[in-house]
Amino acid sequence: MRVAIIGGGAAGFFAALSAKDHHPGAEVTIYEKSDKLLSKVRISGGGRCNVTHHCTEPRKLAKHYPRGEQFLRKAFERFAVRETISWFSEHNVELKTETDGRMFPTTDSSQTVVDVLQEGARKRGVRIALHCGAKAIERTSDGSLRLMIGAQDLRADRAIITTGGHPSPTSYRWLAELGHTIVAPVPSLFTFNMPGEAIRDLMGVVVPARVRIVGTEVESTGPVLITHWGLSGPAVLRASAFGARSLHALDYRFTVQVNWLEGLSEESVRKTFSDQADVLARKIAANADPFHLPKRFWSYQLDRAGIPMDRPWGTIGKKEKNRLIDLLTNDRYQVSGKTTFKEEFVTAGGVALNEVDPITMQSRSVPGLYFAGEVLDIDGITGGFNFQAAWTTGFIAGKLEA
Ligand SMILES: Cc1cc2nc3c(=O)[nH]c(=O)nc-3n(C[C@H](O)[C@H](O)[C@H](O)COP(=O)(O)OP(=O)(O)OC[C@H]3O[C@@H](n4cnc5c(N)ncnc54)[C@H](O)[C@@H]3O)c2cc1C
Repeated sequence: MRVAIIGGGAAGFFAALSAKDHHPGAEVTIYEKSDKLLSKVRISGGGRCNVTHHCTEPRKLAKHYPRGEQFLRKAFERFAVRETISWFSEHNVELKTETDGRMFPTTDSSQTVVDVLQEGARKRGVRIALHCGAKAIERTSDGSLRLMIGAQDLRADRAIITTGGHPSPTSYRWLAELGHTIVAPVPSLFTFNMPGEAIRDLMGVVVPARVRIVGTEVESTGPVLITHWGLSGPAVLRASAFGARSLHALDYRFTVQVNWLEGLSEESVRKTFSDQADVLARKIAANADPFHLPKRFWSYQLDRAGIPMDRPWGTIGKKEKNRLIDLLTNDRYQVSGKTTFKEEFVTAGGVALNEVDPITMQSRSVPGLYFAGEVLDIDGITGGFNFQAAWTTGFIAGKLEA
């Protein structure tokens, strides 16, 4: 059996290794259009490769995917985080878990992951063909697949498409010509640009907060990092992922509403101030923060509320207090543009999931054709979820089940 894997990234390698393990007699070839293999794995996670996330319950795991939740729920029943940890351990790569759940190789080096995949391919006799970009694919009358790869006209019994995500729809044209619907690709996982907003002077400050995109349903709670260009951090990246489509439609110009107290209501903030009134009355404004916000951030908000730092708290009028409460619970900034997040960025969109069987990864319209990785309309939030989707779909596709 000749198996053609199109794309030499994480999903392509995992699919190739799985194909060889499930079908040792198969002739498996990875066709890669560039001269580099596993290039994203190499640069991933700031050079450490965030392999997966310590979330072992398939249903919970699937919730981290703005696109693909339902599809992956089924796939995760077959291969998920436990299986990933075991696979790497069986191949002598131990993973460690950081406090936020992200899992990395204990070597803290993505090269370890590159090596285990490349060595695994070599040991199993997977063939590698570089500078081989696939341009067209069709099913022949004898049931095999005809592939145009570079200038070559090749035949394969099975093909697994693992060409990753791309921001331009033209990259998917050859798959659309095959009859597959392509959900328009748009970027996911980015940070917000806020030119002209004074808050940028607080760069480096992190505040646990709730962000909401005004005029949409997008909302996310978690750490917000203030940067020299705007806002970043887990809550913002999560909002950019769940809002990838609506923010694209807004041309990345929108108002972000921030509750700097993780969603505490105006009433409960007011109550906290009044409950602690006696204690606060003995302090100057600069030291009268009952919420333990970062000092620079508290000073910035006092300043905007028109409250001098050295004013005794007890002498502050209702109007200034109301202004401060509003700034803490209902702060607003104009976002104009996005910046790519350097640690991890992905594409929302790709091959429509209703045309692929989540139990096998086989195309519902072209027998013998399989998909895995980011080429599918699947993307996760940051934290190792994108590689997990590549391992899961790659492993299952490599089984080549009908
Ligand atoms: C900077 C960065 C850091 C990241 N860090 C992390 C992380 O730490 N953890 C995490 O979970 N995710 C991370 N991601 C996301 C993750 O890298 C991707 O989701 C994952 O690589 C997808 O794997 P893939 O194999 O589907 O696609 P890719 O890794 O993109 O591989 C696709 C391959 O196919 C080749 N190709 C494309 N078209 C053709 C064609 N027509 N013919 C032949 N070959 C073709 C490409 O050249 C490429 O080599 C990161 C992404 C980036 C950009």
